[in-house]
Amino acid sequence: EDSYEEECDYLFKAVLIGDSAVGKSNLLSRFSKDEFRLDSKPTIGVEFAYRNVHVGDKIIKAQIWDTAGQERFRAITSSYYRGALGALLIYDITRRTTFENIKKWLFELRDFSNPDTVVVLVGNKSDLRQSREVEEDDGKSLAESEGLYFLETSALENVNVEEAFLVMIGRIHEVVT
Ligand code: GDP
Ligand code: MG
Repeated sequence: EDSYEEECDYLFKAVLIGDSAVGKSNLLSRFSKDEFRLDSKPTIGVEFAYRNVHVGDKIIKAQIWDTAGQERFRAITSSYYRGALGALLIYDITRRTTFENIKKWLFELRDFSNPDTVVVLVGNKSDLRQSREVEEDDGKSLAESEGLYFLETSALENVNVEEAFLVMIGRIHEVVT
């Protein structure tokens, strides 16, 4: 199970961005370790996680960066974005403001990252149907107008998490090869 030592053909960096408590850290722990936490531990202290992904006959090591809570203060620095080939731009479907802030995050991302950075818009917490404040169609239209990929996910129920990361990784692979 320890894929860390496995030989890889490519290594690339991707970042998670979005407002506080949208589920960034849980999406990452679901993807990298298949774990979920009900309590919010804003700072786990881990800067990034790795996972190896097989694309065709190649092995890609994805290094995914998580914020250590800096997003609370809008204090994500340019070094966080530097060299990132992909980004998951995450909002919480139960909090409208997190969706409205997506444009700010996108602006910052485009300011600091490479123009062909692959961006996937992610509406997380799709399991909380009762408290939905952002319709799936709102996410879709924003993604269409900004030229992004789009999925709704649930880190809790493990729905579309793998897909969101794999869409990003697959697209990066196409861009770099
Ligand atoms: P971050 O600040 O963006 O890293 O968000 P966290 O991953 O720390 O999650 C914030 C809170 O939302 C925690 O209480 C999580 O348990 C909860 N959470 C994260 N993802 C989901 C999800 O898909 N569904 C539900 N119901 N709760 C979630
Ligand atoms: Mg976090």
